[in-house]
Amino acid sequence: MRIAVFRGDGIGAEVVDACIAVLEALQRRVGGFRLSFDHLDAGARYYRETGTDIADETVAEAGRAEAILLGAMGDPEIRHADGTEIMPHLMFREVFGLYAGVRPVTAYPNTPRRLRDERAGEIDMVILRESTEGLFHTQGRGQVIDDREARETLLITRETSEKLFDFAFRLAERRKTRGGKALVTCVDKANVFRAFAFFRKIFDERAARFPEIATGYSYVDAQALDFIRRPWDFDVLVTENMFGDILSDLAGGLVGGMGMAACAEIGDRHALFQPAHGSAPDIAGQGTANPMAAILSGGLMLDHLGDRHGIENLSDAARLLDEAVQSGFANGRFLPVEFGGPDGTVAVTRALIEIVTEGIAAPTTVAADG
Ligand code: ATP
Repeated sequence: MRIAVFRGDGIGAEVVDACIAVLEALQRRVGGFRLSFDHLDAGARYYRETGTDIADETVAEAGRAEAILLGAMGDPEIRHADGTEIMPHLMFREVFGLYAGVRPVTAYPNTPRRLRDERAGEIDMVILRESTEGLFHTQGRGQVIDDREARETLLITRETSEKLFDFAFRLAERRKTRGGKALVTCVDKANVFRAFAFFRKIFDERAARFPEIATGYSYVDAQALDFIRRPWDFDVLVTENMFGDILSDLAGGLVGGMGMAACAEIGDRHALFQPAHGSAPDIAGQGTANPMAAILSGGLMLDHLGDRHGIENLSDAARLLDEAVQSGFANGRFLPVEFGGPDGTVAVTRALIEIVTEGIAAPTTVAADG
């Protein structure tokens, strides 16, 4: 399977290298699949060297790959003439129709917790953020009229909402097989806006097709409160673009730092995997970046490819990676600099590869030479 790789800028390049090293170790250990990494160039450094942020042919090339793996793009020192940063990857959502933004929020052992309650160690949920419409619909096209008033428009379509909810319920089904709570919560503001009442109506229609999965409802303001009061009770949460943007940062803050925040952006024909953090120029080149968000995003990629193509070994590799990360933190095999530990990017990556290679729990389908 051909994976288009954008290392990008700053720590993006460092964490992508770590991710690829771990993916290759998983491939050796589990076997039965072969990923080939095709490096493409774009971003701020590329812009400084060439005067273009991304070439059209590069976008087309990325579109032909099985998946896109991306580090981070942007550098505050390098900007377009209008002052904006060089972040060509932001157009991928629109160009590739990546409507499902997947943001897992998991508490790993021995990582910083913001909540004192013991149950904070059980936080394990996924926020599914619609990423192509909602309150971002008129992004860049909003109107400011005569310096008197400003307008932006919210868009909710049946077509995208149906696909989004089906994705949410299927995700809950898959999580159920691994001990998930089999619950999808619809987060909206259906008590105030017709558009969100419509969103919720479609949620109910699609829920009827998944009788094994329970449904929950929450207004976005109450959800913010519940993320502080009882985040351990949630499983999959599905919501509109802006609400998802805000809630995923809030939820991410409950379980460690930016260096743990993995992300997948998935459409019908394309999928992009990247850490949720940026290029972090303040720590770039020091070797201290936490590679875990990128590595966990690589795990989301394995899981997605396994599911899409029905290849068990890829799903096994994703599960093995999850277990390795859990066990690495639990047994003190690494503690990233980001959390006050001694381990830089390379040390965390090496330790994780060791655990994968030793094998914590034998995967169900190990290659003969594995
Ligand atoms: P962007 O706008 O591109 O998302 P940003 O300026 O909002 O970027 P990030 O680059 O995500 O922010 O990072 C904010 C800060 O968090 C960084 O300056 C860095 O100190 C810290 N940080 C981000 N990612 C990591 C990481 N993987 N490991 C350690 N620290 C990180």
